[in-house]
Amino acid sequence: MAKKLTPWESQLANVKKICDIMELEPSVFEVLSHPKEILKVALPLKMDDGTVKTFEGVRIHHNDARGPTKGGIRYHPDIDMDTEMALAAWMTWKNAVVDLPYGGGKGGINVDPKTLSKGELERLTRMYAVAIAKFVGVDLDIPAPDVGTNAQIMAWFVDEYYKMIGKITPGVITAKPLAIGGSLGRSTATGRGVYFVGVEASEAFNIPIKGSKVSIQGFGNVARSAAINFHNAGAKIVALSDSRGGIYNANGLDPYKVAEHKVATGKVSGFPGAEEIGSAGTLTVDCDILIPAALQNALTKDNAGDVKAKLILEGANGPTLPEADEILNKKGVIIVPDICANAGGVTVSYFEWVQNRQGYYWTEEEVDERLKRIMVKAFHDLKEQADKYDVPLRGGAYALAIGRVAEAMRFLGRI
Ligand code: NAD
Repeated sequence: MAKKLTPWESQLANVKKICDIMELEPSVFEVLSHPKEILKVALPLKMDDGTVKTFEGVRIHHNDARGPTKGGIRYHPDIDMDTEMALAAWMTWKNAVVDLPYGGGKGGINVDPKTLSKGELERLTRMYAVAIAKFVGVDLDIPAPDVGTNAQIMAWFVDEYYKMIGKITPGVITAKPLAIGGSLGRSTATGRGVYFVGVEASEAFNIPIKGSKVSIQGFGNVARSAAINFHNAGAKIVALSDSRGGIYNANGLDPYKVAEHKVATGKVSGFPGAEEIGSAGTLTVDCDILIPAALQNALTKDNAGDVKAKLILEGANGPTLPEADEILNKKGVIIVPDICANAGGVTVSYFEWVQNRQGYYWTEEEVDERLKRIMVKAFHDLKEQADKYDVPLRGGAYALAIGRVAEAMRFLGRI
């Protein structure tokens, strides 16, 4: 039986495949198979009960040929170096697909934030900020939230960073609260971006949105915003789910009302007039467009054959396992990959960084119009690459990203 690849090995195998298809010089893959720099730090946290517990923190710069590295900070108990390296590389590709002037980075702490008190969480974040301060910077590496972190954590981080460097440089971290330099439109940007590429894909592959049946896995930040956008464009949201269950109504669900129900009851299940289909039911219900927007590895070899959608927009990061990807490609399902479909979040983070540097803030309409322009262009750029190399859209997205990074490395004389 073939050895199961680690996340880093698996992304490398993918990069190698695309480098070969594009017939790039071997030095491109050679450089891309090593993250540029890794900083590991020990974080001995004084707990509320007086004991000391040491957590491990890391920050990785994968590739900075196109600009300062950018990527989230994850607080999760199962973080390991291999996964962090893969996530950092993923950010290199995502930033390049939407043509942001950034490389890719990632970082995190192996902690379950839910087990800490608010005070412990704040002290741990401040300690991490001090420990990696020399490794981040507005022109060096710009973190943002990821799994287990949020705008408040970004605020504690930036406050500590200001003290360290003796200057107020809000652009060092993004997705901050509005009161300290966040951008309008950031909180809904990822779902809005999913919608913008959805519109382009629907036109390119003749799957009209108005009147279409849309099923969405998840009902968090990305899923809710995507649901509202598709609903407002005349699509029928036939199914929604969260970790506690899933709901279906062939006549369509009103996402605003489901959101009210979720606030009131803590779950989507039990929504009046809907049939219960379970958390994973959204993936295989009768629909035209499927948006997995919950977790990684949602589509597997066991359920991919049952997918009814003609178009999949990957709102989540890594929702489709490679075996499932193969099955879906064979069935002719069009998949707009995560590194394009959910890049709206990092794009508005980029806008936040630009606004922080200018000290001049844009209206929500300006943010929205610029986000649309970038997402639409990214979709067409990757489709052009997919057509050129005769590969699915995912291959086109990687070809676009790797080609752009390789071009930058060539000019810099690194390859
Ligand atoms: P979130 O925590 O706000 O929402 C996650 C949702 O998924 C919740 O509704 C949760 O109940 C649901 N869920 C969890 N397990 C589930 C299961 N087994 N079945 C069905 N639903 C389940 O997170 P989010 O910010 O919306 O992120 C969702 C995905 O999008 C993640 O993969 C994330 O990495 C990716 N993403 C998010 C952003 C962003 O800006 N928030 C940007 C890019 C990518």
